[in-house]
Amino acid sequence: MGGIGSGRRYQGGKNTTNDMRALDVRYLQRQGLLTPGRTSNLTWSRSDTVIGSIQITAHADQVILQYRHQRHNGPWQNLDYPVYLEKTHCNLGGLRTWFLCPAQGCGKRVAILYGGKIFACRHCHQLAYQSTREQPDDRASRKADRIRKKLDWEAGILNPNGIKPKGMHWKTFHKLQLKHDVLVNQSLAGIVKRLRLFEDEPLI
Ligand SMILES: [Zn+2]
Repeated sequence: MGGIGSGRRYQGGKNTTNDMRALDVRYLQRQGLLTPGRTSNLTWSRSDTVIGSIQITAHADQVILQYRHQRHNGPWQNLDYPVYLEKTHCNLGGLRTWFLCPAQGCGKRVAILYGGKIFACRHCHQLAYQSTREQPDDRASRKADRIRKKLDWEAGILNPNGIKPKGMHWKTFHKLQLKHDVLVNQSLAGIVKRLRLFEDEPLI
């Protein structure tokens, strides 16, 4: 890393997804960071702690994003890919620049990209978020919750298992507990898989 603009602090755009690193093309343009040939480093900070950084190299019709991403405390991965730019005419004259969302199958013209593993538009992040809900393994978690009720355990599969209710045969208890654990594993496996769906999406 290094280069012109090194250490510049990025002031995120208006958005409700505060936990995400955001790149606002209007900011890049205002700061002259879209000048072809220019390389800049931006960092995101929260409470004076740097929570992310990225190197941006501008070309006429694209910016190259370079940064490192760490998944679930796993190894760091170097990412390096282009985001294409599009220019439209403003009513009052002049040109406005947009990002074309680099997520596979998207290409939406947007002003702000949000970082997960890759930078993508709000719509793509919403899709990824929605895909973490109402999936078949929710059935597994509902079934597991029904068993928890029978066992008089606190609802919610992320809560620890409880003890055998008074008056229940041990055999019945073990059977229900086993069934419960299998369902919880199914549900958790599904959640993990879906949360990674978006991250594993090819870039272009
Ligand atoms: Zn998108």
